[in-house]
Amino acid sequence: MDSSIIAPTPAKVSAMGTQVVFEDQTVQSVDLNSIKFSLRTRIERALKTSGILVCASLLSILIPVFHIVLVPGLLISSVVIGYRRFSENSCIDLTDFKCPKCHEYLNEKKVFQTKLDPFSKVYCFNCRTNMKVFLKS
Ligand SMILES: [Zn+2]
Repeated sequence: MDSSIIAPTPAKVSAMGTQVVFEDQTVQSVDLNSIKFSLRTRIERALKTSGILVCASLLSILIPVFHIVLVPGLLISSVVIGYRRFSENSCIDLTDFKCPKCHEYLNEKKVFQTKLDPFSKVYCFNCRTNMKVFLKS
């Protein structure tokens, strides 16, 4: 679902410098493709996500008993998740990224950054290493 949201938008794709910070605070620079979202793209992504959740909440009116929880829950989550989508301003593509320690591909294919939290936590399940990935600006 994420790739269909990202793909059609004319966002800037660049191979910017990315840094990986390990648990022991060692830093390594790598080149990864990243996408900076424009304001229009961010609004579109937020509206798509919120719209899906609002439609789901409207459909859940038809479900007896559970609609007491589902309708308000999905409406609240449409606002919260829509805002979180809007606050994501860039995306780092990890499809070609191998763990710098064990040289295996990671399970995660994309990580998103927000202005408040530019560090994306990434975990390598092969060597059990925590990393933080962020764009060097
Ligand atoms: Zn690893």
